[in-house]
Amino acid sequence: MRLVSTRGQAAATFGDALLQGLAPDGGLYIPERIEPFPPGAIASWRGLPIGSVAWHVLSHLLGDEVPARDLEPLVRDAFDFPAPAVPVEDRRFVLELFHGPTLAFKDFGARFLARVFGYLLARRGDHATILVATSGDTGSAVAQGFFGVPRVRVIVLYPEGKVSPFQEAQMATLGGNVTAVRVPGTFDDCQRLVKRAFRDATLTDKHLSSANSINIGRLVPQAVYYFAAWLQVAGDRGPVVFSVPSGNLGNITAGVIAQRLGLPVARFVAACNVNDVLPEYLRTGRLRTRPSVATLSNAMDVGDPNNFARLLALHGGQDDALCANVKGMVVTDDETRSTLRGLYARTGYLVDPHTAVGYEAARRSAAASEVGGGDRLPHIVLGTAHPAKFGDVVREELGFVPALPEAYKDWQTRPLRAHRLADVEYEGFRDWLRVLPAPGD
Ligand SMILES: *Cc1c(COP(=O)(O)O)cnc(C)c1O
Repeated sequence: MRLVSTRGQAAATFGDALLQGLAPDGGLYIPERIEPFPPGAIASWRGLPIGSVAWHVLSHLLGDEVPARDLEPLVRDAFDFPAPAVPVEDRRFVLELFHGPTLAFKDFGARFLARVFGYLLARRGDHATILVATSGDTGSAVAQGFFGVPRVRVIVLYPEGKVSPFQEAQMATLGGNVTAVRVPGTFDDCQRLVKRAFRDATLTDKHLSSANSINIGRLVPQAVYYFAAWLQVAGDRGPVVFSVPSGNLGNITAGVIAQRLGLPVARFVAACNVNDVLPEYLRTGRLRTRPSVATLSNAMDVGDPNNFARLLALHGGQDDALCANVKGMVVTDDETRSTLRGLYARTGYLVDPHTAVGYEAARRSAAASEVGGGDRLPHIVLGTAHPAKFGDVVREELGFVPALPEAYKDWQTRPLRAHRLADVEYEGFRDWLRVLPAPGD
């Protein structure tokens, strides 16, 4: 798969793009061309486990670069947990993407990225240091995904006091090749430090790379579960609507890639909390980035969504094409709470705050189209996190704390060992980074 930068000055193979993260011209890599599957091919995968669907999708995209016998074990190992599409109400489904190690959808991208990364570095006899800025879920997924992968060091920057104790434990208790860095600031501060380090010529010997959703190696595997969802839900070959709880827009961009691969998607709903940069853009045509505001759905608290350029480029750079394919919806914290409560009361189905935003956005979007006599399509809400990760909100609304799966019982007993930055200035971070030793084999 040949990739080009959204800024038009760079091209790369998948392997190079994955190791680089950001393109040298500062843009984001997107596929130069996406060859759709032949008609009927996708429907013929019905009934297959997600690992086999992943194999079809990823070998189609990457087969020219990673030989089939090498790709197969990487895919099998990465896609080793299910993604059930659960019917919740009439024509409403939740695609549960939270059955991986960190109980959130980012496990899909992170696990595949980690395995391909290790594979490519071994093939090249190279090493790398991965820098990640996180508001919680990316960092924990990347830390868990890369833990123990040879030749890679992972450095995760997170805003102090703004991630959940569970997320912090998943980043800061691993040790080994994973170092957590506590930043006395916001997610945007973390992101700024990371972006600056990537541009810093004095750090080239570190072989810095990213695993944020700007990394194409994380984005591409996320296209897989859109196929898995459609195969479970679409009785005939009909189109569906996906409602995607959105922050940095990586997840929804992966959905558009699936659509370009031929998946019958009528449209997407970009479900946002009050950090509504994309919905506002779709309404006004103006991209107004700004500091993020803290909400209940904190993994979506993004004021400068880093996949925006990619999303627009996948629509040929055309605003009207983007507006036709993606509907923006804004859901407040109060509406998030009442959705979580109301849905549980009506159906007994429990959602986390992010999924609640997606659910409410889907309800509104469906209502808008049905009132107008429009289509009555199935809506698939991406269930991005397990409700037990947000026990406090659930307790406030419903009076009980949902149980974590059995395997997570002892998470509170492991000691935290994060490096704390004194301030959010770049220089201190750089000096600390400079003296870190290279990762081992
Ligand atoms: C990261 C995340 C999102 C937002 O996904 P993007 O790809 O950044 O748009 C939504 N929900 C949860 C639980 C997340 O962790």
